[in-house]
Amino acid sequence: MARVVIVSNRVPLPNERGARAGGLAVGLSDALKDGGLWFGWSGEISKTTHNPVRKVEAAGVTYATIDLCQEDYDRFYVGYANSTLWPLLHFRLGLIDFKREDLEGYFSVNRTFAAALALELQPDDVVWIHDYHLIPLGAELRRLGVRNRLGFFLHIPFVPASLFAALPQGETLLRAFLAYDVVGLQTEEHRRDFLDAVKQVLGIEPDADGQLVTASGISRAIANPIGIDARGFAAMATKAERSVETKRLLSSLVGRDLVIGVDRLDYSKGLPNRFTAFGKLLQNYPEHRQKVSYLQVAARSREDVSEYQALRRELDRKAGNINGRFAEFDWVPLRYMTRPVNRNLLAGFYRAARVGLVTPLRDGMNLVAKEFIAAQDHNDPGVLILSRFAGAAEDLAEALIVNPYDPDEITEAMHQALIMPQTERQDRMAHLRARVFTSTAEAYCRNFLAALAA
Ligand code: UDP
Repeated sequence: MARVVIVSNRVPLPNERGARAGGLAVGLSDALKDGGLWFGWSGEISKTTHNPVRKVEAAGVTYATIDLCQEDYDRFYVGYANSTLWPLLHFRLGLIDFKREDLEGYFSVNRTFAAALALELQPDDVVWIHDYHLIPLGAELRRLGVRNRLGFFLHIPFVPASLFAALPQGETLLRAFLAYDVVGLQTEEHRRDFLDAVKQVLGIEPDADGQLVTASGISRAIANPIGIDARGFAAMATKAERSVETKRLLSSLVGRDLVIGVDRLDYSKGLPNRFTAFGKLLQNYPEHRQKVSYLQVAARSREDVSEYQALRRELDRKAGNINGRFAEFDWVPLRYMTRPVNRNLLAGFYRAARVGLVTPLRDGMNLVAKEFIAAQDHNDPGVLILSRFAGAAEDLAEALIVNPYDPDEITEAMHQALIMPQTERQDRMAHLRARVFTSTAEAYCRNFLAALAA
């Protein structure tokens, strides 16, 4: 069998598993279950511009990483990837902060990665590249003569052609996708938008199978939603239910219902509207006062980007307003923390919650939604409130689906969830669980690698 090579911006090194291991690390571990190579940035910033590849081995997998110098980090990562591509592909044109030197930095880091990776590749390797940081990597590898099967998966959404048109020199970026044999997107909607942008911007018409035929080869676009290790997560939740931390959380609730939200602190997650909606719940439905506690974990992220600093100030202020207005001497309605929480603990917290709030304005998939479902006790499950603009919504229709731009709609869904009879909760959750336990991380890896091998 061919060796699998995974490439991602940030490599989850074996000694970092645990607290920092997020969705990607867990989701892709199946692809490397028979060994392989994982290549990418180490997460370190070095003082020099020429950085060697460092390797460590664990459980048959070689982790090969490279440091970035400060300028590359600023231009490639903070700049083009997170201040141009991230807002663009999350439909937030107004937040784009484009600089030509960032674009150059982005392509230059991709060239450096390609040169280092090409030296590691064996002729039969199947190479699977991940996410918006590394879109041009395939084209750079081809330029160096690499003939291996190359696949790419975009974890974040794609936008309609009319929005994509706002990206300066977007044609070059879009053309870079065509270097891949397979381009994977999370949903049918993202795939449609991607193919339409290729048609409008590059004038290349896809065939009925989503194949794009060019002089340099055939590239196929597929929708392949990422999932989680649902059984593993369910087992983790059952175990975590008995943990000291879950017990402490439950005893602090003194019988009140728990509403939970878990996100990176990111403007795509719709947190200000969620806070507004919770304030409106307490205002418009006074029967819930003193009866619910809302815990929002908003793990700090990308603190070098100014938009994230502004968002944090906004949320601090909103949280203060809600608690100042509604708190009693023995009840704090909103518990808001920006420190990350270990996934093992989160599993127990989800299971303890009556309501899970997942209301991004736009999200590639949203794994928290799937983790919340997997963690539930099927006898007495909680209710998931889910944004129609999360990729996960394509498959999870039995959640309470909301438009996250309308705080009143979120408020009404919270009220409905809090008063929902047990039988309806069981019924909805049974459907959701069937989906999450079928469309798993393992199925995601298997489907993509099968498409790449075809
Ligand atoms: N997560 C975590 N601790 C936190 C916040 C989030 O472990 O404090 C994990 C969460 O369990 C999930 C991932 O980070 O596995 C977030 O993935 P998601 O797809 O929901 O959003 P992203 O952060 O990739 O935009």
